[in-house]
Amino acid sequence: MIDTPKNLTRNILVGLILGFVVGAFLFYTNFFPSSVDAFVEKYIFKMGGDIFMNLLKLLVVPLVFFSLVTGISSLGSSQSLGKLTFKTVGFYLLTTGIAVSLALLAGSFFQPGSNYSSDIAMAAPSSLPQGQGIYSTIVGIFPSNIIQAMAENQMLAIVFFSIIFGLALNKTNHLTGNLSDSFAKLNTVFLQLIVMIMSFAPLGVFCLIGKFVIADGLDIFQDVLAYVVLLIALLLFHAAFTYSMFLKFIGGLNPLTFYRKMKDVALFAFSTSSSAATIPVTLRTVNQDLGVNQNVASFVVPVGATINMDGTAIMQGLATVFIAQMSGIDLTLFQYIQVVLLAVATSIGTAAVPSAGTITLIIILQQFNLPLEAIGIILAVDRVLDMIRTSVNVTGDAAIACIVAKTENQLDENIFNSKA
Ligand code: ASP
Repeated sequence: MIDTPKNLTRNILVGLILGFVVGAFLFYTNFFPSSVDAFVEKYIFKMGGDIFMNLLKLLVVPLVFFSLVTGISSLGSSQSLGKLTFKTVGFYLLTTGIAVSLALLAGSFFQPGSNYSSDIAMAAPSSLPQGQGIYSTIVGIFPSNIIQAMAENQMLAIVFFSIIFGLALNKTNHLTGNLSDSFAKLNTVFLQLIVMIMSFAPLGVFCLIGKFVIADGLDIFQDVLAYVVLLIALLLFHAAFTYSMFLKFIGGLNPLTFYRKMKDVALFAFSTSSSAATIPVTLRTVNQDLGVNQNVASFVVPVGATINMDGTAIMQGLATVFIAQMSGIDLTLFQYIQVVLLAVATSIGTAAVPSAGTITLIIILQQFNLPLEAIGIILAVDRVLDMIRTSVNVTGDAAIACIVAKTENQLDENIFNSKA
């Protein structure tokens, strides 16, 4: 087994706190001339953060490809694959439905938008990442050009191609002199690469957090405190409670053991705000620390990173209620049900990259004729909230991976329950 760098979680936390402290110091004081602040912002925080993100993203496509091909080619029958797909997608949709319902319930109970006084006409920034409709998400699963799909990080298309490639590899092993063994070996090399890149995480996290704090400071949060506090509480509740229930009652697994082993993954997601960029770390943890069989992990994790976004759905549900309350619009029960369905659908179509969830939020707002300018308020406080909801998104992916594996007899409980 490949070893993880020592004290990684502690060092990442130190990097995170130092990033906050140094970023805030430079933002709030005039201790250094502004030219020094600008230099640190660009050539330390931004450059360091961008390099770290690039290195993580560099691994995603080859890692998903090699691990899935290896997994599928040893899984063998396409019947067990069908069952696995059905179960995985079913659990993902169910947890997302629960997530958005929680947000709507809490939003209508606590009314975070009812006392909002300032002007909502804040312009939405012009350059926003694109969301995808359901039609293009489904057609996009079947790529016409795999090189293009890989270059554009189209995860579901890569998953589909890897599956058919893995099945063909399995069927031709007797003709190719067991070519699948070579894929398994390449997969091991990529796992080692993750560990090498993870050892730079404390530095990378320092830069990513510093870049964020030095640019905007943290003042903006006071304006929409009720929304921010309620959203964070809901995200933490869903991560701690809903997944615990699933793990305990459906998986028969100890939730505390699960959370203890998920620290690094959550911190990576927090620092990168991208479930996709976190895939290498999620895959590694789910397989090596939580004991999910590689065949299952290599399918469930990348699919989850792409379609399962409970944190995003919670934000979208709460933001919709918040904006409706702010604008004095009462949503009917039928509209609440529509929000649930829409948020589940849009979170599938949301790209697993920073801030993507606020874009697909537009689809929901449009549906109910809510003022689109209000997205400006949501975006103003979105950076930190995006970090937290991305951690929830990946925690959900890993929890479902454990549950699917357990119910398919593909979970090594000795590894799951082990101390390390
Ligand atoms: N940043 C989120 C993710 O990658 C998506 C979003 O909600 O903006 O999981």
